[in-house]
Amino acid sequence: MKRVLSGMQPSGQLTLGNYIGALKNYVTLQHTHDCYFMVVDLHAITVPQEPAALKEQSESVTALYIAAGIDPAKATVFMQSHVRQHAELGWLFTTLTYMGELERMTQFKDKSEGKDSVGAGLFTYPSLMAADILLYNADLVPVGDDQKQHLELTRDLAQRFNQRYGDTFTIPEPYIPQVGARIMSLDDASKKMSKSSTNAGSFITLLDSPDVIRKKISRAVTDSGREVKFDPQAKPEVSNLISIYANCSDLSIAEIEALYEGQGYGPFKKELAERVVALLEPLQQRYREIRESGELYDILRQGAERAAEQAEKNLRIAKERMGFLVL
Ligand code: ATP
Ligand code: MG
Repeated sequence: MKRVLSGMQPSGQLTLGNYIGALKNYVTLQHTHDCYFMVVDLHAITVPQEPAALKEQSESVTALYIAAGIDPAKATVFMQSHVRQHAELGWLFTTLTYMGELERMTQFKDKSEGKDSVGAGLFTYPSLMAADILLYNADLVPVGDDQKQHLELTRDLAQRFNQRYGDTFTIPEPYIPQVGARIMSLDDASKKMSKSSTNAGSFITLLDSPDVIRKKISRAVTDSGREVKFDPQAKPEVSNLISIYANCSDLSIAEIEALYEGQGYGPFKKELAERVVALLEPLQQRYREIRESGELYDILRQGAERAAEQAEKNLRIAKERMGFLVL
């Protein structure tokens, strides 16, 4: 069975972008693959996090994984910091990564832009991400389009390690959705939707109430035209909303275009909001049940145990090959 690994940062509430770009695929892949889904708290602290917020968000992201349909009996669900091997292999890969490679990463450029002080961890983030994936010899990594560049670096680093020290790591492939690989901000279609954005109107979280969802979608920026047409170059805002619609229904892009032909944006946005509400309401119900059940920590404990077993095996091999003394 092929292995899958991916994770999300507890750097805020999960958004529709996170769901459409990655979480939705986690849920389908668990039926056909040996899956490892983690909450990457070590990545979240590459930008400042308030301790109480980090704790709450770590619990919330874990609960949302389950609420979205990940079955902890099928997939291994765990917290990155609970499996210490991530930090350790992360360091080894930091030493294998070139400064020039990290300097080319657009996520670093985007997240450090205009900041007075930037933590070194934000710069070396991709080395840790490579370690996360390679530690389990994952074949497939479900991610949004924004992580493609980091995944390419992961592949380069795996190849570099294998060449230097002998065949050790599986070269992973990205698994990116056809529609919705990059959901854009509702207020600015030149930026991707991000849970860490300071403008709450730019994203829809999986926990937003129906009224908030309706308000955010009605305020979402469109253009001065009135044609519901998928054309990311000429109509990036409307195309983004169509991508969301397609992912919240079983309609294709062409079917959505046909449905709203000649009607303008009003009815389209209204129905889109209802589709999003209908998708999220049952998920939010399950979320509340999970948070109240108190089972989260048991899931994480079991997940960490399973993950650490795999991780330790592969870390030992890597260290031995590099010339560390292994007891
Ligand atoms: P942050 O702003 O803190 O980086 P984020 O919203 O980018 O948060 P991440 O935790 O970095 O979320 O990413 C989790 C997963 O969601 C990754 O697989 C990423 O590619 C995917 N993803 C993030 N944003 C989008 C988006 N706008 N559209 C599609 N996929 C996305
Ligand atoms: Mg991100």
